Amino acid sequence: MTTEPRTSIVWDYAPAPEATDHVRLRDRYGLFIDGASRDPAESRYEQTLNPATEQPIAEVAWAGPADVTRAIDSARAAQPKWAALPDRERAKYLFRIARLIQERARELAVVETMDGGKPLRESRDVDIPLAAAHFFHYAGWADKLRYGVNAREVAPLGVVGQIVPWNFPLLMAAWKLAPALACGNTAILKPAETTPLTALLLAEICQEAELPAGVVSILPGDGETGATLVRAPGIDKVAFTGSTAVGRDIQAALAGRPTSLTLELGGKSANIVFEDAALDQAVEGIVNGIFFNQGHVCCAGSRLLIQESIIETLIAKLWRRMGRLRVGDPLDKNTDVGAINSAEQLQRIETLVAAGEDEGAQRRTIACELPEHGYWFAPTLFTEVSPAHRIAVEEIFGPVVSVLSFRTQAEAIEKANNSRYGLAAGIWTDKGAKAFEVASALRAGVVWQNTYNHFDPTAAFGGYKESGFGREGGPAGLRPYLKIAR
Ligand code: NDP
Repeated sequence: MTTEPRTSIVWDYAPAPEATDHVRLRDRYGLFIDGASRDPAESRYEQTLNPATEQPIAEVAWAGPADVTRAIDSARAAQPKWAALPDRERAKYLFRIARLIQERARELAVVETMDGGKPLRESRDVDIPLAAAHFFHYAGWADKLRYGVNAREVAPLGVVGQIVPWNFPLLMAAWKLAPALACGNTAILKPAETTPLTALLLAEICQEAELPAGVVSILPGDGETGATLVRAPGIDKVAFTGSTAVGRDIQAALAGRPTSLTLELGGKSANIVFEDAALDQAVEGIVNGIFFNQGHVCCAGSRLLIQESIIETLIAKLWRRMGRLRVGDPLDKNTDVGAINSAEQLQRIETLVAAGEDEGAQRRTIACELPEHGYWFAPTLFTEVSPAHRIAVEEIFGPVVSVLSFRTQAEAIEKANNSRYGLAAGIWTDKGAKAFEVASALRAGVVWQNTYNHFDPTAAFGGYKESGFGREGGPAGLRPYLKIAR
């Protein structure tokens, strides 16, 4: 008897683009200084591009030294009055900012995705809600500062300079501004040159919230603007998130000066899967750990450590799951992996991936159709990686995961700690005691158990070793913005 083959049905998603008609961007944005939009002293404007299309979105002013001085003067003048406000009044401004972020959430999410390339699903469900949550959280701390630091007497530091990267533009701005303002400081924020737009919309929100002039200034620009801000007299504290190289430069520039400093730098975080883990759940965590935001995440689980007994099974499951990732238009609500943030970043990823192949690791990249324009890199998995390979050592900051194996718990700990970084780690196991034992042996600022890339404003985040120092989030995030009496 012959049987007819069953019809195979291929399911696919229909396009689901997010509407953009509610977004009202201006053609040109100035600097936000002293409570209003200002022209830059040197009249320099640069285009910000959509990395998914390479099309310009808007022109943005770049701040030079005279603008930095002007912003510092305004912030210095505003600081004593801001600090002298009753704590609950300062809290009300932060609440207002948080509410306004929520009100404008749809617009902010679309702009974040257009300017940075991340999938809308992430900007809508992670970046923007978490940015609002950080303002809410620190609004709650503004009248309880002493209780966040063991009931000691506290005072603000003064004027803080804050430099943020392009991977979570609004969220990083919120991480920096919310605790600084809650503590009574005034702040000057420099967004990254490829993603200034949501910071400039935040400037509008500060105006709408009637934040007193000078409490927040926003100075878009390039690395030179950042370097000028860091070195300017009149800055009492610098808070930086970005590459270890620039972090080192900033630390050297501030050596011998009374300026306080926190650095949140790179990482090469280990995501460790033990043989007793729930493997399907671990696969989801691995995917979220490395392909979330195209791997442009300082704490990305870019070194995947798998126990030898399950390596084949787990890689087969992971590879199958990777094949289902949807790469493409970041504004499509079904997209999992969006555009690489810039041509420079794409080049860095390609260089490191080529080094992985040259050094003998086995590369697998998922087959998918990439858009004609824009910057793209398909999710990639490397096996047969040795701990000395560049792809096991250096931060790739892209959708690329390097797999290493281990036999015993001790070996897993040793391999995980064998890094000049120490930002984060993940542990996948069914055994609670094992998770705690391993977590306490890891030199990593954040350790997730049976989850990954889970962020919460109440939890401290920060690194060891070349991943920097200082903590952001929760009560620990107040300390870097306060003078604390001994
Ligand atoms: P950078 O460290 O150069 O940039 C971070 C921020 O610092 C940006 O606002 C940048 O401005 C500014 N900046 C640059 N140079 C200076 C300086 N000398 N003094 C003060 N501020 C400065 O990171 P990149 O954007 O160039 O990315 C390079 C690599 O760094 C990535 O491939 C990745 O590996 C890593 N990285 C790590 C991040 C993390 O969160 N750990 C975040 C971003 C990058 P501008 O945008 O104009 O350059």
